[in-house]
Amino acid sequence: MSAGAAAAAVTVGDLRRQARALLKGAGIVNAARETDWLLAFALDVPSHVLMLEGARAVSALQAEQARVLAGRRAAREPLQYLLGTQEFRGLDIAVAPAVLIPRPESELLVEETLRAVAGIAAPVLADVGTGSGCIAVAIACERPDATVYALDVSAPALAVARSNAIRHGAGDRIRFIRADLLEALGGARAFDAIVSNPPYIPEQEVEGLQPEVARYEPRVALAAGPDGLAFYRRLLHGAPPLLKPGGSLVMELGCGQAEAVTRMALQNGAFDSVECRKDMAGIERVLVARKVGTGGARCAGPPPVLMVS
Ligand code: GLN
Repeated sequence: MSAGAAAAAVTVGDLRRQARALLKGAGIVNAARETDWLLAFALDVPSHVLMLEGARAVSALQAEQARVLAGRRAAREPLQYLLGTQEFRGLDIAVAPAVLIPRPESELLVEETLRAVAGIAAPVLADVGTGSGCIAVAIACERPDATVYALDVSAPALAVARSNAIRHGAGDRIRFIRADLLEALGGARAFDAIVSNPPYIPEQEVEGLQPEVARYEPRVALAAGPDGLAFYRRLLHGAPPLLKPGGSLVMELGCGQAEAVTRMALQNGAFDSVECRKDMAGIERVLVARKVGTGGARCAGPPPVLMVS
């Protein structure tokens, strides 16, 4: 490199223009905003610096890091994987390609689960398919007296979930268990609520989702057999023996699945009330199925003895 080239250092403004054009060309809708988030992260500066100090010189290393990130985003890698974080119910949740990125709709799932255990002291819950742990951690933070069992089939996902629990001071009240759905839990009627945001995309529809999802999010967190209902069947079958009488199974639903899942829950016979709640877009998003009986559900029982394999 000649001395002249070295003198003409790359500036914040240059990078901002180049990255914006790249993202725009790749069809990213919020190209300008995403560029600023990525550059603020890569250059480790507050975003107002990008606006106010366009002439600021950037080191070759930082410029390279910024270009790499912009290139990855242009290839439609999700912004959250690049930044390593997503906000969920006011919590900063760490994310990595091993886990589904938390969605705002799942905040309703947390809300309904909290409602289901509202009158219960020291409730015991299970979060099945915890992924990033966003649901388990939000519940543990919002109900400091709760104990949460967080299950996932993926060891890398559990590592992310555990880091999120520790990050938010809930590491001692969440137990992490590697398990395929509910299979690792003994038959104990230990739980006041079982919550799950299971995979619910019909297998053949995954490829048609937006590239960020189809190419980068873990397929194991998305695909659910030919009709998208495979995990609802298993959860509806597996949850009743684990729930206390009057306990609740709370599940997130895919768009248009409420009727079929409600029917399955009613046919099951173990639940005496099955209700769906709509999200902000008016889609029936969360199903709450309450197990028959009122026995232990409203009083705090002894801590559960769970067989964990
Ligand atoms: N429980 C996690 C979430 O809601 C992961 C769900 C999943 O992987 N299907 O984000």
